[in-house]
Amino acid sequence: MAVERTLSIIKPDATERNLTGKINSYIEAAGLRIIAQKRIRLTRDQAEAFYGVHKERSFFGELVDFMVSGPVVVQLLEGENGIAAYREVMGATNPANADAGTIRKDFAIDVQNNSVHGSDAPETAAVEASFFFSEIEIVG
Ligand code: ADP
Repeated sequence: MAVERTLSIIKPDATERNLTGKINSYIEAAGLRIIAQKRIRLTRDQAEAFYGVHKERSFFGELVDFMVSGPVVVQLLEGENGIAAYREVMGATNPANADAGTIRKDFAIDVQNNSVHGSDAPETAAVEASFFFSEIEIVG
């Protein structure tokens, strides 16, 4: 197994409910280290670009509206097999299908308001990390 970095976003439904610390405790309990973190408000342009892969999907407009509706916390996580390790502790996209003990099972509201984002592959993790962080903001 390799040490990998993955981009996490604590989404507006979670910041609204003051869940940043609770979610960070799940991240750290999963063996992932938070090596960069900042609380920001996404612009509409940023949200559209970040989720550009979904622009043909029926839910794209609602997704962008949701992502700009409040603050988000963007984070870079690092750990053994980090991309899969974070996807595992996040749980399934729809919290109704998420396993017990996952972030989405314990905190998400529905398939859109699902509390967290995590990169899905090494290539997207690298692109998403550089979307939000410069090298001097990352302290591994
Ligand atoms: P994941 O975040 O688990 O990688 P996707 O890449 O499929 O999932 O979707 C990106 C985000 O779009 C989801 O996390 C969720 O916020 C939103 N989303 C996905 N499917 C739906 C849907 N059917 N209706 C509304 N929003 C959705």
